[in-house]
Amino acid sequence: MQFFDSHAHYNDEKFEEDREAVIKQIYKEDVTKTTCVGYNIKSSEFAVEIASQYDFMYATVGISPNDITDLQMGEIDKIRNLAQNDKVVAIGEIGLDYYWNKENKNTQQDFFIKQMELADELNLPIVIHCRDAVMDTLEILKHKINPKKRGIFHCCMLNPELIKEAVKLEFYISFSGNITFKSAKPKEAINEVPLNKILIETDSPYLTPEPFRKARNDSRNVKLVAQKIAEIKGLKLEEIAEITYENAKNIYGIA
Ligand SMILES: [Zn+2]
Repeated sequence: MQFFDSHAHYNDEKFEEDREAVIKQIYKEDVTKTTCVGYNIKSSEFAVEIASQYDFMYATVGISPNDITDLQMGEIDKIRNLAQNDKVVAIGEIGLDYYWNKENKNTQQDFFIKQMELADELNLPIVIHCRDAVMDTLEILKHKINPKKRGIFHCCMLNPELIKEAVKLEFYISFSGNITFKSAKPKEAINEVPLNKILIETDSPYLTPEPFRKARNDSRNVKLVAQKIAEIKGLKLEEIAEITYENAKNIYGIA
């Protein structure tokens, strides 16, 4: 059985001590593809650098809504340059986050739209980070720009209404460890997603699934996310592993 962890941050400082060992270990334990996701200029550069060292790892580059303070639009040119690298498979994570930042909604929207235009220019899909900003995110995708290669709602909120709309807009929906939390009620949300649009991710080093919640997360735990989805969909773990593997390859354009 093989797994594709569609979203992890091996560029995070929490992997500083043992990055190489962890990356080698996840591969040994059946995570044979993963994507290292950038969220500002520095982490995007690093994502490309790490992905270049491992055949099975890809990168995304982008500026997240929580990393745009004091940033000029011109910085997007740096993302454009980084995206020329062969290992870059998407622009992201980008989007809106009114949970951490509600003072600069207009700037967030400008950066989101500009980076979607960049994705279109480069023929890449996007990775969306959306927190407490469902209405504005959907509004932009429906009425301003919906990139032609579409993309992924990452660490998707377990909000069946959002998911219904996102699926209508032809987006993939990626679930993370939070579907395993004891307080979570993921059934209705997961059942909104057709099998050809479902993805699994860890968002490592964050969002460690049950029963390891206190530990640092890594891609090996993507199996626990797959297991939960398998239970809800009434399928075997093997089937979810294979379906999500193919879906991730499709959206990221990996042969
Ligand atoms: Zn992330």
